[in-house]
Amino acid sequence: MESIFAIGSMLGTLKSGALAVVFAVGGKSLRKPSPLPTHNPKLPFVAGKPNGWEGNLLKDNRYHNPEYPFAISFKDVRKWKKAGSPYAKFKKTDTTRLPVVSKEEMAWITQDSCDGIAYLGHATFFIRLGGYSILTDPVFGNASYVVKRFADFPLDPNHLLNLDLLLVSHDHRDHMDQQSLKLVGKNNPKMQVATGLKNGHLIHGFTKLGHAQITEMGWYQQWELEGGRVKVTYLPTRHWCRRWITDTNKRLWGAFVIEIDGKVIYFGGDSGYGKHYAEVAKLFPRIDYAILGIGAYQPEWFMENNHSSPAKALQSALDMGASMMIPMHYGVFDLSDEPVCEPIERLEKDFSQVTGNGVNGISNVSENVTTAGLISEESENQATVVRRSIRVIIPRLGENLLKAHRVL
Ligand SMILES: [Zn+2]
Repeated sequence: MESIFAIGSMLGTLKSGALAVVFAVGGKSLRKPSPLPTHNPKLPFVAGKPNGWEGNLLKDNRYHNPEYPFAISFKDVRKWKKAGSPYAKFKKTDTTRLPVVSKEEMAWITQDSCDGIAYLGHATFFIRLGGYSILTDPVFGNASYVVKRFADFPLDPNHLLNLDLLLVSHDHRDHMDQQSLKLVGKNNPKMQVATGLKNGHLIHGFTKLGHAQITEMGWYQQWELEGGRVKVTYLPTRHWCRRWITDTNKRLWGAFVIEIDGKVIYFGGDSGYGKHYAEVAKLFPRIDYAILGIGAYQPEWFMENNHSSPAKALQSALDMGASMMIPMHYGVFDLSDEPVCEPIERLEKDFSQVTGNGVNGISNVSENVTTAGLISEESENQATVVRRSIRVIIPRLGENLLKAHRVL
């Protein structure tokens, strides 16, 4: 049984980062490996980084987050598998799928002069501001042999041309996909790439882009492009890395803050809820958009170390003081117990609940955009109540959010 389970677990790893359940088997090498880099010596740290931070911490020569150490135990995986999913029967007949805009409506992506932001599915976003084009975590097809798409990629990926920058948050297969990187690298030979420490070798192999085009970043490091007009900062998340069996946390995971022409976008990669969101507010007092994962959260007792529920993601956006939240990581890949479109349905419900009786909740569903909601939150030491407002935008695949919702 153990060996059958181990094989199943290995498929789990192939299936996704969310389900990755294979356990490192030692893999001792005869030679002592050289220590992993703790930062990129060519890049500065962002102003306001934590006191004494000189680079990422290592434990047993793996990247380590002491606040949220890697915590998937074999016992917990067995508990999860044994319990079965309460959604299993429903998912077999569930036909709910994400809405996609028409081909005509999506034509803006191929027009270099048209700025916009679009959700292309899971963690793939296309962002063009001031003519500068960015693609995040591209996955155009399935995420692996066993993780199939539930929503088609909304355009021909060959139309993603003239990209300036590619962001790859971490090495899980639903974020770093070999075939997609191969295609986007071939079609965009001059593109720059930002990613976490030690991910560059893989990305170089997949994209065939030169090493000089790929910049590895440690947490709190900042990279200026276009003479400072564009700034990219890599920040901590509560997550982990692994593509194979023995490479757990041998590459770094994280989130990006992108600054272009004074606009600030947070792209969260994958993360459980944690104090790092409040820290973002200190480092970046203005966040225009918080792009945050809301899926792969069931069962929460098991998933919450690495992914956020819709309610936790909403809280994260509030902690950051973001003006707007755009959800991601739902509707495309079935990575956990919940049905693929449940996260977005729950986000709508949770938003209505926290904002109270629907007055400030989602009242404009026909346009897939919420009205502003007021959220109350008590400050730490005083009984004063801090009120923050946030707007949640629920995009259709391929929609130009700048045009549709007049944001930024
Ligand atoms: Zn992941």
